[in-house]
Parts: sequence; C-alpha cells; structure tokens
Amino acid sequence: MSSSSTPDRPIPRPGVLAIDPYIPGKSGAPGAMKIHKLSSNETPLGPSPRAVEAFATIASKLELYPDGSVARLRAAIAGRFGLDADRIVCGNGSDDILHLLAMAYIGPGDEGIFTTHGFLVYRIAILASGGTPIVAPETNLCADVDAILACVTPRTKIVYLANPNNPTGTYMPFDEVKRLHASLPRHVLLVLDAAYAEYVRRNDYAEGIELVATNENVVMTRTFSKIFGLANLRLGWCYAPAAICDALNRIRGPFNVNGAALEAGIAALEDVKHVEGAIEHNEKWLPWLSHEIGTLGLEVTPSVANFVLIHFPPSSGLSAADADAFLTGRGLVLRAVGAYGLPHCLRLTVGTEEANRLVVEALRAYVEAARHG
Ligand SMILES: *Cc1c(COP(=O)(O)O)cnc(C)c1O
Repeated sequence: MSSSSTPDRPIPRPGVLAIDPYIPGKSGAPGAMKIHKLSSNETPLGPSPRAVEAFATIASKLELYPDGSVARLRAAIAGRFGLDADRIVCGNGSDDILHLLAMAYIGPGDEGIFTTHGFLVYRIAILASGGTPIVAPETNLCADVDAILACVTPRTKIVYLANPNNPTGTYMPFDEVKRLHASLPRHVLLVLDAAYAEYVRRNDYAEGIELVATNENVVMTRTFSKIFGLANLRLGWCYAPAAICDALNRIRGPFNVNGAALEAGIAALEDVKHVEGAIEHNEKWLPWLSHEIGTLGLEVTPSVANFVLIHFPPSSGLSAADADAFLTGRGLVLRAVGAYGLPHCLRLTVGTEEANRLVVEALRAYVEAARHG
C-alpha cells in the first residue's frame, strides 16, 4: 500500500535536515613536525594528575554500569560551588545539557533565541527539537540585551546566552544579564552557558548562580572540558530550578555520564591548585598574546576567556584562510570561524609558552609576507 504522498523511505522530522553538522576544530597539520592544537579551547596544561589517576581506576570495572544518578559527583560539584546537589543535573558534556533543555522546552512552532556569533550548538539544539532559531544582532561582537529582548515573541521558549561567548571572547556584565532576565516573560527559559567562567577576571562578571537560585526560569551550564582539561571524557552539568531538573531527569539518558568521567570529575574538582595554575597561566598569556598580536597591526577582540579572536580584514591585504594555511604549515592549528559568520577571523586558544611564542612569530612572518610579498 503506497500513495504518492507516502515516502518510500524514512524521512527525518522537519528541522533535522536544516541542520548543518557541527564541524569541530581541526586537530592535524599534515607534514608538520610538532603540532600545537590551538583550535578547540582545550587547556595547554592538561588535566589534574589526580583526575588521570581516578580515571585509571575504572579500567578494571568496564563491564559495570555507572551510577546513573552520579550522586557522588553532584555532591562534589555542590560542595565546591556551594550549591544544592539536588538541583544539579550532569551530562555527556554540557552539549548534552544544552540539547536536553531544547528537547524539554522547545517543540515545533516554538522559537529559541541566541546571538549572531553565539555558540553553534544552540542553533543545532533548537532545530533538532523542531523549533525555529531566532538570531539576535550583536553590538561590537557583544550580546546586546535590547536586541535580544526585541526578538522575544509569544512563541519564544528559550534564550541561550554564552557568557563569556565563544568564539568572540566577549562577555556581558552581570547587571546586564539581570536586566535581560528582568525583562523576559516568566515562562521564557534563560540559559546562561558559563563554559569559560573560571577564566574571567572581571568584577562585573558573574556566572549566574544567584539568578538560578532565586528564579524559576534560569539555568546555568558548566563544563569539565575547558579549565578542568577533561574534554575527551565528555562531562558537563547544570544548576537549575527543581522543576527543570525534574524535566531533564525524565528525558536524559539513564547513564549519560560514564564512570570514568564521574571519577575523574570528582578528582579534578578536588585539585584546586591545578585549576589555580591554569588561571595563572591564562592571566599571563591572554594579555601577552593580545598585546603581541596587536603590535603586528592585527585587531584582536578583547577577550576574557582562554582564546582570542584575530581579525584579518581583506581590505588590508590579509586573509584568514591564507593565515590559517600558513600557520598550519608550521604545526600551529587555529580555528577557522566562517561557520560563526566570521570568515575574516581566526580563533586562537591560549597555549603553552612555546606555542604562544611560535604563533606570534608565525603571524609576524605571515603579515610581513602578505604586506610586502
Ligand atoms: C566548549 C564549550 C562548551 C562545552 O561543551 P562540552 O560539551 O561541555 O565539551 C559549552 N559552551 C560553549 C560556549 C563552549 O565553547
């Protein structure tokens, strides 16, 4: 039995085929002797050795299911950040949480808002849930409260805000976040993605814990992939109102955090010194890179995270693609950000001292060749 309107093979729901797959930062540089991967905002210092040890203890227990409630991990997170463990939900990376939030709160006909150069996962999560992505314009590569509010309609269900944002490295002061929240309808969920919170050294910044604690419609997401150095294990979490935790716990995979991530995550939280070392490293090299690259005549967007956005305007004879190829040839792998609507930029993760110095030298050589060659 088939009619002309019945397809002859399974067809994904509307929205699925509108998704451009996420393309991760490249990791290779064919031919280069030594590769410095500066394309995915991973920490150059690696994870805490204690996390690596804890990870290894799972090798003898691979046949066992992990604790699906990740009780010890949630308790460790709660202890470290002063939170209620019952209001923490963990995930297979914070990407998992971002998707679960869309799955729980967005359906066909609903809208989710993010900003022009916002993290790409938001668009994917909204479309995957059958919703409509709405892009709010930015001002000087910063999220703009009034522009976001102007996008709100009766169909709006979620606003995703990365703070600081990737790939721009810019941030929204907490007063502005509060102003945004105060003007959103109470049924609209505000998701504060604080993946880089630990790196921020600004008095007017806050991750959003206070807003989550005192409202029904704010969620903060965090990750172990960045400063904790556990990107490969896939571990993230959110702090959320009880009703939202309840919704997420109904739809998440029952074992969406694996045992190795659970053990390594707990150990990583305990190693406060390691995180402090990573913050110190960034405090030294983020300004150094921004300044040195600036002196080459390249514009660098002021960043509060562990990466910088470098501009290569074609009007000055420069090309992000050429610079990317030039640096890759020297084993320096940066992130092209054309998919973020920034075709004339590259994103550079703060690396080891060796990598940082090599990048500045290579950029100097590229700029000289481009200007005089
Ligand atoms: C890296 C990053 C994350 C973290 O993703 P994980 O799935 O936890 O690895 C989340 N949000 C932003 C903006 C990021 O840049």
